[in-house]
Amino acid sequence: SVARVYADANEIRPREYWDYENYKIEWGNIANYEIISKIGRGKYSEVFTGVNVLNNEPCVIKVLKPVKLKKIHREIKILKNLTGGPNIIRLYDLIQDHNSKIPALIFEKINNVDFRVLYPKFTLDDIRYYFTQLLRALDYSHSMGIMHRDVKPQNIMIDPLTKTLKLIDWGLAEFYHRGMDFNVRVASRYHKGPELLINLQQYDYSLDLWSVGAMIAAIVFKKEPFFKGDSNTDQLVKIAKVLGTDDLHKYCNRYGIKLSSDYDDILMTYPRKPWRHFINENNRHLSENPAVIDLIDHLVKYDHQERLTAKEAMAHPFFRGS
Ligand code: ATP
Repeated sequence: SVARVYADANEIRPREYWDYENYKIEWGNIANYEIISKIGRGKYSEVFTGVNVLNNEPCVIKVLKPVKLKKIHREIKILKNLTGGPNIIRLYDLIQDHNSKIPALIFEKINNVDFRVLYPKFTLDDIRYYFTQLLRALDYSHSMGIMHRDVKPQNIMIDPLTKTLKLIDWGLAEFYHRGMDFNVRVASRYHKGPELLINLQQYDYSLDLWSVGAMIAAIVFKKEPFFKGDSNTDQLVKIAKVLGTDDLHKYCNRYGIKLSSDYDDILMTYPRKPWRHFINENNRHLSENPAVIDLIDHLVKYDHQERLTAKEAMAHPFFRGS
């Protein structure tokens, strides 16, 4: 299948834009930066706060772990292509240790408040505001031919004091090319779209919109994460317990997918649960808004082609309401 929007985003651009393997990295001066303290470690990196000693500007230093050079080139090329775009983290510089050759990426620093503290306090207006910002980042990156493929709270930096939102961690992002098969081992389990779990390799930008839908559902129903599988196969079971198995089989048939035998013993038959099933005393103030439920319903869909695009989502009545 082919992306409903921006399918030709890379075709219309010169080869240098998307051919990251032949991209020549230009390294900045490592002496310009000082590490201050460690703020995180991911699968692929160790992240520090730091300072640019030339102008005293704070920054974030992401020191990459030894991974394939190809992956490093991809992350850097994508960041170079997207830097300056709306709600996209800014890449300031690239440095490399003289001896070890270990590369590090220098980013603008966001005074992020942890989502486990922030999201529980969100009002419907906060959801409208911050998800508009996130959708802007996604529509922009999709229009630039790039799918993020790891949208999750940990990769969305929010400074509530300045109401800034920036989408970070482009380490799993990839250039979309129509007809291409992509690796389904992307995104983190709770935010993996069904296409990844049924091994449908010709996916597209719409993968990111599933993750957005799962995030909105988690906030609105105060159920974090909304789909909490304890393995990749269980993740699809958790989804099927909400969306039902009828539509799952229809989805597989539509794209000629035969479900892996791994599901034989764990995927039973489940009816579709109406969204109102998840409304409770604790989330009523958010979940009793019909527009937000309709938005979730149009994002959290098995069929990636039926999900709203980022631009369509931004135009959804929920974002106009109050
Ligand atoms: P993961 O394995 O979790 O995907 P990663 O190795 O790809 O992580 P990042 O997600 O880029 O690394 O960064 C790890 C963490 O560092 C983030 O979750 C965030 O807490 C922090 N961080 C990264 N960039 C910034 C930034 N620009 N401003 C503030 N904090 C940041």
